[in-house]
Amino acid sequence: MNGRAELDVATIRKDFPILEREIRGKPLVYLDSAASAQKPRAVLEAIQNFYANAYANIHRGVYQLSAEATALYESGRDRVQGFIGAADRREIIFVRNATEAINLVARTFGETQLEAGDEILITALEHHANIVPWQMLGERRGTKLKVLPVDDRGEINLDAYAALLGQRTKLVALTHVSNAIGTILPLKKMIALAKAQGIPVLVDGAQAVPHTRVNVEDLGCDFYAFSGHKLFGPSGIGVLYGRLPMLQAMPPFLGGGDMIETVSFEKTTYAEPPNRFEAGTPDIAGVVGLEAAIGYVEKVGIDAIEAWEQSLLEKATAALAKIDGLRIIGQAREKAAVLSFVLEGIHAHDVGTALDQAGVAVRVGHHCAQPLMVRFGVPATVRASFSLYNTPAEIDVLVAALRETRELFG
Ligand code: PMP
Repeated sequence: MNGRAELDVATIRKDFPILEREIRGKPLVYLDSAASAQKPRAVLEAIQNFYANAYANIHRGVYQLSAEATALYESGRDRVQGFIGAADRREIIFVRNATEAINLVARTFGETQLEAGDEILITALEHHANIVPWQMLGERRGTKLKVLPVDDRGEINLDAYAALLGQRTKLVALTHVSNAIGTILPLKKMIALAKAQGIPVLVDGAQAVPHTRVNVEDLGCDFYAFSGHKLFGPSGIGVLYGRLPMLQAMPPFLGGGDMIETVSFEKTTYAEPPNRFEAGTPDIAGVVGLEAAIGYVEKVGIDAIEAWEQSLLEKATAALAKIDGLRIIGQAREKAAVLSFVLEGIHAHDVGTALDQAGVAVRVGHHCAQPLMVRFGVPATVRASFSLYNTPAEIDVLVAALRETRELFG
């Protein structure tokens, strides 16, 4: 545990009702938190309590219930601001998920500030959510995508990155942590290099926020996107952080209620951020649930969570390396608790199905990172991802099930 804060996993597991479930007569071993994390009781109760006792639409109501619901929604914004270290609450925009956050930037910043021939620099590690919106923008505006490669470990080279930053680079869009192979990018250095040339930086933080301390001011990025559901919150709520002057210069994304100042048939004027980007009735209960999730993470302590997950990653990496014919994909020195691997001669989907028989839930496939799979010469991997509620004993179950699978297909 490297002398860092300890985490009482037995107590934590009691906070997650779903972990009491059995799958095929065996205790559930949930190793798919990188896809979506399970929800603690604090989140479930906050949502239930909101709907049962304080529910109404927000912002325009003059009656008490609406005022209470509005206060809860806006207090969620304050909580997110504090959690990611944003300088101003107006920099926090609620969206559906990380995907929508990135699309929002592509549709607003991209449409108005980027021109034909401008380059958007990404890495080979990106999730489709941080590739496709830029390609769609390219189809509309003629912008170009440049891709920073990764080496056999799954790491980037900073000199190669610096060399790709050029006159035509008008946006850098980086994942903080790779969902497919776990690489943690040297983000602070990468952002500093881009900012030294005045290039804005967007960070896809979907895989970082649940596992490590994030401070957007310290990072120096212009945009930071993440999803509530990977942070133990409900699905359907996500966050786009944007530096205030950037947001103020951006046109609206969706048009409708709540994002306007005045409307007439001749001319409509738009609200200031964040409302400008939050058209229509938002996921109010989602924000309430997200606030509870952040409260939960802060109570456990993000440093303790990170240390625990790193200890699980170390144990699992060592144990899996001993399995015959197992190849780990992605061996970055700075890595989150994501273990991607292939078993020689056995299709990843067959491995996943066999593990399910043992109650072990892992993800198999391309993990929405097809170009990265091509880079490593595999069509798919098996991915086990670890969270604060996983235990060393669960790694033993995974290893035993993998050995059985090996024998079954061997
Ligand atoms: N980026 C990364 C790195 C991810 O892992 C994910 C989810 N797998 C996303 C973006 C997209 O998240 P969502 O589906 O919640 O929009």
